[in-house]
Amino acid sequence: MSKARRSNDWGFPRWRGYESAREAAMVRLCDRHGCEEVGNCPAPKAPNSPDRWYFCQQHAAEYNQKWDYFEGLDKAERDGRAKAERSENAGYAEAQHYGWASSGDGSRSADEMRSLELLGLEADADIAAVKKAFRERAKLVHPDVRPGDAEAAKSFQALSLAYEVLKQAEERREWKG
Ligand SMILES: [Zn+2]
Repeated sequence: MSKARRSNDWGFPRWRGYESAREAAMVRLCDRHGCEEVGNCPAPKAPNSPDRWYFCQQHAAEYNQKWDYFEGLDKAERDGRAKAERSENAGYAEAQHYGWASSGDGSRSADEMRSLELLGLEADADIAAVKKAFRERAKLVHPDVRPGDAEAAKSFQALSLAYEVLKQAEERREWKG
């Protein structure tokens, strides 16, 4: 029984079965170090950041007051926490051919956001919309259409890179399931 429960423990971010009898019902635990409460209060990781912590009510209040997630941890805990978060993202980053940074939590990375912007798309655009936007924009600046046009060639390259970023991000999400 304890073995089955361990397999539900993904480490950080900490998702676990809400009750052992109902393993399908997953809840997110509070992101505050050492807290076992349900984390249902989102709080931005930094001003203007789309990334969110999920805290229990008490820790969300504490976080909003102090605005420093690491506060309250001693130095060893703080280093350990920072290291854990780095290594969690490191495997993800190393797997990427071009080494683009990623938020690692399934939300869009800064590179993806820039790529979407270049293609004139919103953050929730799916891969079909990405393909469509890329084709429409790329054909206007394609070297076959604008031979010898350095500006067009640059635009075409930027669009191609943006498309590649988004395509690879989509593939990574599929692997992760
Ligand atoms: Zn908490």
